[in-house]
Order: sequence, then structure tokens, then C-alpha cells
Amino acid sequence: MSIRDDAAALQGDLVQLRRRLHLEPELGLQLPRTQEKVLDAVEGLGLEIALGGSLSSVIGVLRGAQPGPAVLLRADMDALPVAERTGLDFAAQTDRMHACGHDLHTTMLIGAARLLSAHADKLGGDVVFMFQPGEEGYDGASHMVSEGVLEAAGSRVVAGYALHVVSMLPAGTVVTRRGPMLAASDTLCVTVRGAGGHGSTPHRALDPVPATCEMILALQTLVTRTVDIHDPVVITVGSIHGGTQHNVIPDEVQFEATVRSYSRQSHTQIKNGIHRTLRGIAEAHGLDVDIDYTDLYPVTVNDPREAEFAAATATELLGEDRFQWAPHPLSASEDFSRVLDNVPGAMLLLGAAPNGVDPESAPTNHSPLVTFDESVLASGAALYADLAIQRLAMC
Ligand SMILES: [Zn+2]
Repeated sequence: MSIRDDAAALQGDLVQLRRRLHLEPELGLQLPRTQEKVLDAVEGLGLEIALGGSLSSVIGVLRGAQPGPAVLLRADMDALPVAERTGLDFAAQTDRMHACGHDLHTTMLIGAARLLSAHADKLGGDVVFMFQPGEEGYDGASHMVSEGVLEAAGSRVVAGYALHVVSMLPAGTVVTRRGPMLAASDTLCVTVRGAGGHGSTPHRALDPVPATCEMILALQTLVTRTVDIHDPVVITVGSIHGGTQHNVIPDEVQFEATVRSYSRQSHTQIKNGIHRTLRGIAEAHGLDVDIDYTDLYPVTVNDPREAEFAAATATELLGEDRFQWAPHPLSASEDFSRVLDNVPGAMLLLGAAPNGVDPESAPTNHSPLVTFDESVLASGAALYADLAIQRLAMC
């Protein structure tokens, strides 16, 4: 039997497992119920199991029949603080929801563990299964890298792969690209400090409002005048707060922005440019400014050769019509970037638009209405498994 046939035979089990995970979403770095379900599901597969210290991760190592290097397969497991409105009969009845499809990732990686355990004779090396909490803003991958996931098999893995379902791509379609795949995402929180006063006598005050307006516009000019248009940056100011009423000059104004970039070079450039611009405008107006710039996730960069390999594997396994190169990176971000900063590998998107819905108009990942086509579970499990088998065969 081929991996694909074996995976198809698991489909019913995978759907049930996915629904059990979907019913009980958990947030952040501690996912005890999810961890329990993963441990139950991989019991008897012959994996060496290690649990996280600072988070409820699960690392499984499968030893292949022949000695060789190790490769890593990653699934994230956490949900979002979104109240589900899908109306599905297995919808979560809490204020949390698997609105990014991480329940599918966890299920597919368990499927891959079952397939690879049954085909361990075909493995020329070891497979590290990385079941990760805290992708949604908690940097769970970074915790797992610190706790040694990359060396879990005894030596550093030679490659790492992750799949992510997307509700707006046709079900079963695999998409990736060489080089930058997802954006770096940073947050900017700014407080502009002046001295409040009466709106009729601004010369007796230090008004932070006009200077804040200048700053926000200058950030947009900074993007268009200093950044290479072929290496784009996005700055969106999503929040601005200051003052109480029309005739009172406030002491301070605050604003917050998200900053997205697609290369390490533009990341450094825009970060420095933001500090310089904001300080310069504040100084010009005799104001103080506090700049709190936080690097969240770095740019997710696919190794070009690993992306080629993953594309060839997906095409061979699923058919040419099921694979597409992404024309440009996505502006979302991912902490799988922490793995790809350390070892070569690739992140792949797996289309999962719900059956009968135009992918273009399907509710997006993170929406309370998002649904995913469960028919992709078997394909995803087979793809994870085949990436490991084929990559180890190349070593
Ligand atoms: Zn996600």
C-alpha cells in the first residue's frame, strides 16, 4: 500500500480526532487537555516522547529502520480568543475557537506519526514530531527551540517542514515559495508627551496632537521614500488615543501600529527609520516621545532548495494540478520562522476551502465563521509523512 492509500484509510479516524480537538480549544502556552489527546493518539506508535518544561509541548521521536540524520515536522496546537459562530454540530461552546485550523495541523501530524510508524522500514533516519503550543502570539516555537526540539533525536535535524491550512485556497491545493514566505511582524507603541493646557492658549502649552499627526503621516512617507518597492514594508497605525474634549490640550497622545516586513534587511532598516523619524519630530516640537518597539516574529524564510524539494514531493504525491507556487509572500506571520532561522526547511500552505464555497469569498482564518474542508486531513497527513520519507532518502 502507498502512503496515500494508507492515509486515505485513516481519514475517518482523523475526522473524529479533529472534532474532539475542535470541541475543546485551549489558548497560549499551556494546553493540558490538547496535550493529553495528543499523547493518547500517539500511544503505541513507538515514539520516544518528551514533554515541554515551560509549555505543554509534545516532542515525539520516531527511529527509522536504517540509521541516518533526522528531519522535523511541526504542527501548532493552540486556538484563538474568538467565540465560534459556525453553527457546526461540533462547534466549540466557549469563548475560544480553533479559528486558524491548528486542530487540523495537530490531527494531520498525528496521522503522519501513524503512517511513518507503520512505514518505519522505509525511513533512512529519524523523524522529530513537534507538537507546539502558543503560535498565536506566544512564541511557542522559540520556547521549544530553547528546550532543544531541534536536537531531540540526538543530533540537530537537517530540515524542518510545517503545513498550514488556509480557508481561502481550494481544498487540497498545496502552495509554497522559495525565500520569504510570511512577513516579519512587529508592534510599535508610542507615547508623545507634552504639557496640557487651554485650547485657546496653545502658546502656554506643549501640544502633542499636531506632532502625533505629523508622526503618523511621516511613517507612511518613510515607507514610500526609503524602502525598496521590491522588498515591501507595511506600517498600519491601528489605534490612536488622546485628549478628552475640544478645548483641552492633552498632556499626551498614544498610538499603536503593526509593522510588517519581508527581509532581515528591510526589517532593520524600517526599525531604525521609525526611531529616527519619531525622535526627530518630537525634538522639533520640543516634546518627549517614548517608543516601545517589539519584534514579534521574524520573517519566515523558506530555503530555496527545501522549497523545491517540498514542491516536488507534493506534486509527486498529490498530482501536478494540486500544487502552485505562491507569487509573493503572505503578510501574516508565523513562529515557525524560529525553526527556519536555525535549520533549512519550508512552510507549506494547504488549501482547505469548505466544500461548495467559493474560496475567494470563504470566511478567512481567524474569523468566527471560518470552516475548513476536513477532506484535506488525509492528504495533509500523507504529505507530512512523505516529506520525511523522501527527505531522509536524499541523505
Ligand atoms: Zn495559524
